[in-house]
Amino acid sequence: MIKIGNISTNAGELKWGNLHCGFLANGQAVQIPLFIVHGSKPGPTLFLNGVIHGREIPAIEILRKICREEINPQNLSGTILAVPICNPLAFEAVEHHALQDDKNMNMVRGINPKGSITEKMIHVLLSEILFRSDYLIDMHSNYHLGIEFSVVTPCRNKAVLERSLKLADLFGYPVVELKRSQFGFENSLIAYAQDKGIPACIVEFLGTNIIIKKSVESGILGVKNVLRHLKMIPGPVHVSKDNPAQGIYCYFYNILVENAGILTLDVKPGDLVKKGQTLGVVRDAFGNILENIISPYLAYIRNIPVIHKINSGMSPLVLLVIEPKKNLWK
Ligand SMILES: [Zn+2]
Repeated sequence: MIKIGNISTNAGELKWGNLHCGFLANGQAVQIPLFIVHGSKPGPTLFLNGVIHGREIPAIEILRKICREEINPQNLSGTILAVPICNPLAFEAVEHHALQDDKNMNMVRGINPKGSITEKMIHVLLSEILFRSDYLIDMHSNYHLGIEFSVVTPCRNKAVLERSLKLADLFGYPVVELKRSQFGFENSLIAYAQDKGIPACIVEFLGTNIIIKKSVESGILGVKNVLRHLKMIPGPVHVSKDNPAQGIYCYFYNILVENAGILTLDVKPGDLVKKGQTLGVVRDAFGNILENIISPYLAYIRNIPVIHKINSGMSPLVLLVIEPKKNLWK
């Protein structure tokens, strides 16, 4: 039997319930929903999570399908611990972070279990779920005008890094090996998990505040590939080769514009662009060209902006830069 909080499951059962984290000022309880899919046979424990950031909701649908439709616990070896909404406060507020403390729930290192409500929620995720798990897939999402991608972070334990890269690759998306110094990744959930010996990756699906069926379907295929790779369900791994940008990348590059105006783009997400290629222009209201947007790299377009009224200093495009892999450990 597996018991987490007050949720108990026997082998071959699916159960769900809520984990208590704390209270709001009005006395309302803050709870994190959890699915336990307890396989009938022994095997590893896979932690799947979603909505650490409140607007990144596609994982809710992916985890509903995986836990309630796709996987029969009678045919599962091991256990799936799936948290569809890690951050119910940010989700409710339609915000990246909980309004109560404005803390990034993805930054888990050094939190105080008796601290703010986000720290209390992180503590429950780590102590009740991560520490029982052998693998982690941390599901996020990005604006719909983009391509899906996975993220891993360098790790001193080479075996854990290799297994993390393998998990990321099973989704068939480009894999970005981000330096730990970028975006504060040293403190991130996946870096923390890796340092505890738990292979982990982030997967970024498409859709902020919306659920896009195509992205959800490819996410389900990716999770099933992970389950097959870990021998938790039978059958061969089949990684889609549809994504032209598949491969390992070293970093993102944000192109900033100098001039405010109206953006017209000649490229779309997923396009391969050359160094020096014109990607679009910024014009004023009379049609005068204020700025040509030039790619500084050979790269794939990762995201384009959802608003083409551009303010000076905005980042209109994000590139996945193609270049030889460097030593990323820092
Ligand atoms: Zn996120």
